[in-house]
Amino acid sequence: MKRKCQVCGQENGSCNRYYFSPANIITICPACLAFSCDDKAKIARQAHKAGRLVKEEVSKKRW
Ligand SMILES: [Zn+2]
Repeated sequence: MKRKCQVCGQENGSCNRYYFSPANIITICPACLAFSCDDKAKIARQAHKAGRLVKEEVSKKRW
């Protein structure tokens, strides 16, 4: 399933999702995660470092 990157707006099958708060998830493609200077990318990078990657089986559970 393709997801739309919230930073560049492109649909990418390898987009990752990260929690940046319990109620908010950001979808971002690997290129934006690595290289974008967008504020959302910075947040996603922090979430990435904190290990807050959304796993599909986890996302179905409640926080
Ligand atoms: Zn992107």
